[in-house]
Amino acid sequence: MGVLLSNGKNIEVDCLSCALTSGVIEPEGGAIIETEHFHAHQDVAYPIKGLIILASKRHIKGFDELNEAEKIDYIHLLTKIRQAQRTVLNIKHVYYFYNEDTSHHFHTWMVPRYDWMDEFGRSVESVRPILLHARKHMNDEKNSKEVLHALAALTKELNGK
Ligand SMILES: [Zn+2]
Repeated sequence: MGVLLSNGKNIEVDCLSCALTSGVIEPEGGAIIETEHFHAHQDVAYPIKGLIILASKRHIKGFDELNEAEKIDYIHLLTKIRQAQRTVLNIKHVYYFYNEDTSHHFHTWMVPRYDWMDEFGRSVESVRPILLHARKHMNDEKNSKEVLHALAALTKELNGK
């Protein structure tokens, strides 16, 4: 697939998740945390504070393909990021979303809930309209800055800098 980079270059990658977790593509704001088996970054496609993608480094699709070391790393990292979202951004609830029939590879979306999302409902069907609303109506400079600030604060919290 073709991926347009923020520097205007268009590159071809076989798998976007592989490109991101291996460092071929640097996500805006960088990795918020990285371990031996996983890589976490802000989903810059949607300007929502603390919307994090946690992706495996290995190109796998099914949850049951995780090996023992990855399983342990995954749950530790997922909960660590969740705690940072609570501590730094005061996020009370998070929706977790992961589909195995992705065109990329294993990644979990951590979608924080904010009050403005209530009008879209609370079920799984609310997630897509929320993301689209953010992309269409929240891409202003002020909100984009807040997203990057939140990203920096999360990175600091998670890496003890
Ligand atoms: Zn991949």
